[in-house]
Amino acid sequence: MALGCHGCSTPRREPGFDRMEFANQPELDDGVVDSAVEVIQGRIRPRAAGGQAGQKELLLALPAPRCANQGERDGPSLSVGGVTSGSLESPCRIAAAGPGYVSTNKNGYGTDETVALLQWGAAQMAEQFPGSPPLVIGAISKPEGGFYPPHKSHQSGRDVDLGYPRTDRGARQFLPTDASTLDTERLWTLLDAWLASGRLGFVFMDYDLQAVLYQDLLDHGYSERQLEPIFQYPAAKSTPQGLIRHAAGHADHLHVRFRCPETDRPGCVD
Ligand SMILES: [Zn+2]
Repeated sequence: MALGCHGCSTPRREPGFDRMEFANQPELDDGVVDSAVEVIQGRIRPRAAGGQAGQKELLLALPAPRCANQGERDGPSLSVGGVTSGSLESPCRIAAAGPGYVSTNKNGYGTDETVALLQWGAAQMAEQFPGSPPLVIGAISKPEGGFYPPHKSHQSGRDVDLGYPRTDRGARQFLPTDASTLDTERLWTLLDAWLASGRLGFVFMDYDLQAVLYQDLLDHGYSERQLEPIFQYPAAKSTPQGLIRHAAGHADHLHVRFRCPETDRPGCVD
């Protein structure tokens, strides 16, 4: 069993995550996303090197989501509106645990694609790092989406809070993380998979942790030019560039936002 269960009898009360996030966050920049994916597929993902593995091909290979509420659903999910003013229909409630992850939040409702991407990414990480602690998946959206205080976003099934992969034994809750405890290899495995999927809209991480990951990737042979479309760092933390951005309150968890599923456009808004 790869999943540890240290002290997992009592779910912790959730602290007020994400109070500050998304203040003044600019709209999604498609140009940034696309160039980032190009870089990843051309250089960082050797297994896609045989050809431009298009986003659609990769998506077709995504396993179906495993939803805890599968029997109660009317059909596929539908993400409506934007992340700060949207809703969610026929959501998939992420199964409480699976290969490489645990889901600790009762509001773990997402789109089918969000849940599939989470489960797929976690499974890839677990496969590459067998025996490592599970990814801790926190808040996604409420069962019908909509306003989910204290969050500003998380309204349409496409925003997810995740515990940072850590170099210590891990935990089933979000813990303050710094350079000494951030597991950059496992974190990059996860982000790399999602970047290659073409479905990643934004990642919100503490600026200092961005710096740790960025430096580690440079040390592993990536160039500044390759990383530039992906990271806000080393530009100032207020600079609106890169997929990975600083947002206050993200030293103990990161926030991932997936783009609208193609099937949900145009009602779903990035
Ligand atoms: Zn969040």
